[in-house]
Amino acid sequence: MNVFVQSIGEKVLGGKKISFPEAQKLLQVDMSDLVDLIAVANRVRHQFVSEGIDLCTIINAKSGRCSEDCRFCVQSAHHHGVCETYPMVSVDEIVRAAHDAEEQRIQRFSIVTSGRALNSKDFQTVIEAARQIRKQTALGVDCSLGMISHEKATVLKKAGADRYHHNLETSRSFFEKICTTHSYSDKLTTIEAVKESGLSICSGGIIGLGEAPEQWLEMIFQLRDLEVDCIPVNILNPRPGTPLEATLPPSPLEIIKLIAITRLIVPNIPIKLAGGRETNLRDFQATAFLAGVTGMIVGGYLTTGGRRIDQDLKLLEDLGPHPRSGHEKRAAPVTVP
Ligand code: SF4
Repeated sequence: MNVFVQSIGEKVLGGKKISFPEAQKLLQVDMSDLVDLIAVANRVRHQFVSEGIDLCTIINAKSGRCSEDCRFCVQSAHHHGVCETYPMVSVDEIVRAAHDAEEQRIQRFSIVTSGRALNSKDFQTVIEAARQIRKQTALGVDCSLGMISHEKATVLKKAGADRYHHNLETSRSFFEKICTTHSYSDKLTTIEAVKESGLSICSGGIIGLGEAPEQWLEMIFQLRDLEVDCIPVNILNPRPGTPLEATLPPSPLEIIKLIAITRLIVPNIPIKLAGGRETNLRDFQATAFLAGVTGMIVGGYLTTGGRRIDQDLKLLEDLGPHPRSGHEKRAAPVTVP
């Protein structure tokens, strides 16, 4: 085994944190030793995160016409991409989608809306939907509504939501290259407000925006400092009409390497494969689970379809007898008014 990878593995398995220079050095590990890195990441995953594999699904409850200019996003009104555009859907539609998710034995359901933040009327729709999903199903309820205050996050929690999703997207040093209408500090402010409310926080980013591999690691160290509860890993699926339409994401093995190093930086945080996994990892999706991934978003993404759920379930079956709903059980019951 590669001696440096082995020493890092022993350090992490011994309960110590790796440093940024050590993570940078892992980037230099030759691809011929990638299997060593995967083996160590797999051992770390088994020691620090339970065996369970968790599945989430989302509803895009309000789509398009976004005031923000995120360069990867086809929902931005600043670009010329084509996506479905519609206002907030009804409470009934959201609750129906949640029931469909539960029938598929998915553990978490996320209500996602486009835009910088929700207006009061749309926020009320989410509140009512969260309340009903919590009463009628056993699903964990996530919300991804853009920027949010501590007060509103507290209202969400009281309604029955137990997690908020707010991606950093990339590192602070690269952020201005992908968005100018809000800042990295705005994102950190939202994450802190959510944490204070008692909701758990899901925050990750997108590999392949044009950032250097070190900048992906920079973001992961930031997430480690923030002590987030879950890290979704998206991989750019370039959308026609966006400024990044011609950007080439890294190769499948380069992505696997970044995922394995991510696992070593955050040994005990669930990592979920999200948008772009099918198009970018292709035949290496299963390898990502051996490199430390512990869950995935299924049933399609915000503006792109995914593959069929039964294909993902088959992949999990082939990986072995992983219990579903392992480490990501829903938060303790709350009294829903
Ligand atoms: S990522 Fe979110 S905030 Fe940014 S343009 Fe897309 S919908 Fe708007």
